[in-house]
Amino acid sequence: MKNLGKPSILVVEDDTAIQALLRAVLGSDYNLKIAGDGATALLAAAEIEPDLILLDVILPDMDGREICRRIKSNTRLAAVPVIFLTSLADPAHEVQGLEAGGIDYLAKPINPAILKVRVSNHLDLKRSRDALERMARLDGLTGLANRRTFDDMLAREWRRLARVSHPLSVIMMDVDHFKLYNDTYGHGGGDECLKQVAAAAAGALQRPADVVARYGGEEFVALLPDTTLDGALMVAEAIRTAVISLVIPHAGSKVASHVTLSLGAACTVPQQDGKPADLLEAADNELYAAKSGGRNQAKGRML
Ligand code: GH3
Ligand code: MG
Ligand code: MG
Ligand code: MG
Repeated sequence: MKNLGKPSILVVEDDTAIQALLRAVLGSDYNLKIAGDGATALLAAAEIEPDLILLDVILPDMDGREICRRIKSNTRLAAVPVIFLTSLADPAHEVQGLEAGGIDYLAKPINPAILKVRVSNHLDLKRSRDALERMARLDGLTGLANRRTFDDMLAREWRRLARVSHPLSVIMMDVDHFKLYNDTYGHGGGDECLKQVAAAAAGALQRPADVVARYGGEEFVALLPDTTLDGALMVAEAIRTAVISLVIPHAGSKVASHVTLSLGAACTVPQQDGKPADLLEAADNELYAAKSGGRNQAKGRML
């Protein structure tokens, strides 16, 4: 059974004595998967997406540097650190390995203490890089995708749906009288409210491809691929209802006694030369119409 808590390491090494050494040194701290040749290694890497790879240079079927290049060209595996294991104590080989995308080199015969420390250091660095990347993509307060991530996803879905001529919808949403909420409950209370609204909006989405992001302050935006305007208006209504159902008291609101949202939906069949920003602008105009129409409601239109 897989030990879920431990980092996983893929060892690619054909020498059984070295396999045994690595197992003895690393086996208790990590989930080891051992592959004796390149073909097995590439399959295992794709399957387990390990946290780190220890890669022998000379293997029966393939050059380790070629394996490394293939791993680095696979977007799902490119960030996995690869440490070469080699007895080729030749600087030129070392350079070739590092140029192929390896992060470090361990010379054979392997020194167990050095092996342990290097592996642990590279795993720590990988964890920090992953955390930074997560922070750059997610909104710190709500944990939703941030605006940059949303804009990237919108551009990607736009291109994809333009190719197949399928509809794409977005919903812009904005908390009603949120300035008055802050004035009544303080900025900390406002933050807490935004977290709950974000979770309710995300929870109201049904399809795996749907995403909700924090677009700015108290504004959120949903991306709904392959969704018609009717579908988007149903989702908007589901989000509006989900937020009302939280029944967060809002004594300052001029619309209701609890927190409410206004929403604007827009739908289009993307054109390759069209602009995603136009779809967002249409949704924003619908949001404005929902606000002037009395708030706590959704409006929408085709672009
Ligand atoms: P409307 O119904 O027209 O949307 O009124 P509103 O008061 O919500 O609109 P406005 O855009 O004037 O105010 C938005 C407020 O949201 C102002 C700002 O202080 C608050 N806000 C923006 N970001 C945050 C945040 O991260 N936390 C908190 N607590 N408040 C925020
Ligand atoms: Mg070998
Ligand atoms: Mg606003
Ligand atoms: Mg508002």
